[in-house]
Amino acid sequence: MKNWSVPIQTLLFAIAGLASALPAAAQEDDRAAERAGMVQEQLINRRSSSPRGSSGAPPPSLFGDASRGSMPMVSSRDLDEHLRIQNGKVLDAMRSVPRHWFVPANMQRDAYADRPLPIGYGQTISQPYIVALMTELLDPKPGAKILEVGTGSGYQAAILTKFTPNVYTMEIVEPLQKQALPRLQKFGLGPERVINGDGYFGLEKIGPFDGIIVTAAADHIPPPLLQQLRPGARMIIPIGPVHATQRLVMVEKDAGGKVRSRSVHPVNFVPLTGGPRAPDKK
Ligand code: SAH
Repeated sequence: MKNWSVPIQTLLFAIAGLASALPAAAQEDDRAAERAGMVQEQLINRRSSSPRGSSGAPPPSLFGDASRGSMPMVSSRDLDEHLRIQNGKVLDAMRSVPRHWFVPANMQRDAYADRPLPIGYGQTISQPYIVALMTELLDPKPGAKILEVGTGSGYQAAILTKFTPNVYTMEIVEPLQKQALPRLQKFGLGPERVINGDGYFGLEKIGPFDGIIVTAAADHIPPPLLQQLRPGARMIIPIGPVHATQRLVMVEKDAGGKVRSRSVHPVNFVPLTGGPRAPDKK
């Protein structure tokens, strides 16, 4: 009599394999659908949910004491029309990058909710709308050399790679940089681009940059970052008090090197640490 045990076992394994593969594939599709929903409902059909602007407050002192007077500054009230994301490339990028890859295991259910989520070490992955808004304001051109300060989970940097491969990102908390690196390698960013360091000082040897995006809040624009901004380029940075509402500010350096800025939207970011007064600096 023939021994059927081996083929039957093989068959059972094959069935089991198929059964486990199918839900996995279906699960990925579910998440793509969630992502499409996130874009449609939160980025395209967005409704004003939070009070807009804080028009009574004086504009923040953007440039700190060191450079005050040397930089012309234009401030305006928050530009309230920035409610929905208009740039199709930004919407495509938000549809294509799996945010759940950047969200901790215990937060997976909320991966496509429009809110920031904790990623450990007291830090957060930003709210999708704010990621989209900052990307739209930065408007990175193909091939542009972009610096992000505040890698965090790596999500914003991954979105930027959909516009240009020439992205550098800096994270001051080493374990976060180590976690973000393998995720960002999938998007073409290796260890020479996902850097553990104090982004207050930027990357002098690699600059000037065609765009700088800072994803942690500072009370002034770090002068080294302003220096590393190429004439004609933009920096997007949250400015204001830590642990309170800040303003997302768009800084533009014109061809002649003049700097102008405007306040775009109220935001709540974790603080930019480091800088010249950091505890480990003299
Ligand atoms: N862009 C991130 C979210 C950033 S949260 C994302 O998409 O997930 C802000 C991050 O900035 C935190 O991880 C924090 O550790 C980092 N950070 C704060 N100060 C920094 C500095 N001086 N240089 C580099 N990173 C800094």
